[in-house]
Amino acid sequence: MVTATVNKIIPFSCVDGPGNRTAVFLQGCNFDCKYCHNPETIHSCVNCGACVPYCKPQALRMEQGKVRYDMEKCVLCDECFHHCPHGASPRTREMTAEQVMVQVRKNMPFIRGITVSGGECTLWRDFLAELLTLAKAEGLGTLLDSNGSHDFSGDPGLMAVTDGVMLDVKAWSRQDHLAVTGRDNETVLRNLCWLAENRKLTEVRTVIVPDLFDCTETVEAVSRILSETGSTATRYKIIRFRPMGVREAYKSLPAPTGEQLSRLRDIAESYGLQDVVTV
Ligand code: SF4
Ligand code: SF4
Repeated sequence: MVTATVNKIIPFSCVDGPGNRTAVFLQGCNFDCKYCHNPETIHSCVNCGACVPYCKPQALRMEQGKVRYDMEKCVLCDECFHHCPHGASPRTREMTAEQVMVQVRKNMPFIRGITVSGGECTLWRDFLAELLTLAKAEGLGTLLDSNGSHDFSGDPGLMAVTDGVMLDVKAWSRQDHLAVTGRDNETVLRNLCWLAENRKLTEVRTVIVPDLFDCTETVEAVSRILSETGSTATRYKIIRFRPMGVREAYKSLPAPTGEQLSRLRDIAESYGLQDVVTV
């Protein structure tokens, strides 16, 4: 039976795609973004037990070499992953797609659909395809929130049950993307074009960190692609870097000024984009 490591399920979210949605966050990511706001979702727990003593309500314990998590006792203080030396979280569950759907069904009929995020949700490709198939069978919309490292054009099975992808384009040039994430962006940019051409691109996001990468080049190039592919109605979210939740070493990264964000918004709109959002 296919399972995935689930970091959390938010029953009702209005920030993970259009309308009210249940958002499912899967553990693990193949990028290592310097500005990651949820670094505890990057790696898998190795059951070292280092976090257990920091859990005052004793929601964590070691049992047969594995860390066990008791959701009932947890007060969501986050002390565990702040003390994890491996960039992981002990607050995860192995779940099948059907087990996730049991949670999702509790939220019907108040949701329009589900959004699967991460970490990077496509690292759990087979689980994902099962979950989205089940959600579709219930009449729910299905969105993915992805860093774009999975070749969507080569995965018609997954695309058949995916309404749309909310795609991060973290930097345009290969060098910049390597500096921001530790990985190149060849597949990301191919996905940007392919998803736009195939009307599967729900939203594009770029987090703006001046000095870390060429933000102007990135916003300009993404806007040009959206324009050239007739995707001017696709939302482009230009996101201000904020240090909250970011690892200590990167907290001093510069945040953009309001003026810089407005300038980037103007650039995007100069390409005819109709739904540019700065947040
Ligand atoms: S969450 Fe981190 S500190 Fe806790 S057991 Fe897992 S790897 Fe160790
Ligand atoms: S967030 Fe972590 S440390 Fe805090 S109560 Fe829950 S399991 Fe324990």
